[in-house]
Amino acid sequence: MRDILSLTLPELQEIMQDIHKPKFRASQIYHWLHVRKVTDFAQMTDLSSALRTKLQSEFCIKRLFIARKLASSIDDTVKYLYTLPDGQHVETVLMHYQHGWRLCISTQVGCKMGCQFCASTIAGYVRNLEASEMLLQIDETERNAGVSISGLVLMGIGEPLDNFDNVMRFLELLSDSKGRNMSLRHVTLSTCGIVPRIRELAEKKTGLTLAVSLHHPENAGRSRIMPVNRRYPLAELMEACQYYFALTGRRVTYEYAVMEGENDSMKDAEKLALLLKHQQAHVNLIPVNAVKERSFHADRRAAQKFMQYLETLGIHATVRRTLGSDIEAACGQLRHEADKEQKTLREE
Ligand code: SAH
Repeated sequence: MRDILSLTLPELQEIMQDIHKPKFRASQIYHWLHVRKVTDFAQMTDLSSALRTKLQSEFCIKRLFIARKLASSIDDTVKYLYTLPDGQHVETVLMHYQHGWRLCISTQVGCKMGCQFCASTIAGYVRNLEASEMLLQIDETERNAGVSISGLVLMGIGEPLDNFDNVMRFLELLSDSKGRNMSLRHVTLSTCGIVPRIRELAEKKTGLTLAVSLHHPENAGRSRIMPVNRRYPLAELMEACQYYFALTGRRVTYEYAVMEGENDSMKDAEKLALLLKHQQAHVNLIPVNAVKERSFHADRRAAQKFMQYLETLGIHATVRRTLGSDIEAACGQLRHEADKEQKTLREE
């Protein structure tokens, strides 16, 4: 059965043509799916029952189901573990900001990138998410929480640029004026640094904000904690970021998880300032989230100190506000736990 929610309007129009139906039927179906967000073909009341039956027999409208929901008791953050149609799991986090609700979505089931400090890597890579499965993280969360999401970050499980085509399709569906009509200016995509894809993204001029996970100012150290650096070292990465800025006029944001003894010395700050001195860079410092299976540590104070020194070196930096610290379970942790539980059940 074909996944109808992942199809663009022109693709639906082609399908209508193939089955000898007028083109406007495609617009009606698309509106039901992306604006009215119905979950069943029976709800598409302005289509003939014959067409509804035909659609029903050839297409599915996917859904996600909540496997776990953790609500913070200190702020409005809610973390969802969603079950996908094939039984796999991904995480989605809803956060409240002064300008509204922001959602952090996953782009893959697991991740191949192997960053040492990241829990998403531990449970291993399974598959890419379809465009519909990214849209559904928004729909199901809005439905469950009763909120309207105004900002999106692609910073959940997975490497978005390793699922390039589906992510581009998702962004097209998300921003389509005949559909969901979300401005991509409210979207941030975070990457570990897949250089050719950063260039390709720049050329698409989508208007979204690019965040690059830097985490270390030198090749030797970065390659140790982020294997992707062996393939695309810092000089190439910096060039690609400058290319992104040159083509889009959008400043790149750098993510830097502060890890004790790994990347938090004053020397590291100096090297980082040197690396970014030709750009009007903004650095987002994150006290590293402790992951059970790994031994990285940091605290807010170390991150503050690092930030203050960076500022004196002329680099604009902020320490990311910690939201939902009581449900933190670093990204990928919930999925990992769910997989372990399932494995235990199977073994019993
Ligand atoms: N694959 C993409 C997006 C997913 S991760 C990327 O690498 O950017 C989102 C962000 O969380 C990245 O900056 C990632 O490096 C960071 N991150 C992962 N594990 C972390 C941890 N334990 N503590 C702090 N930040 C972490």
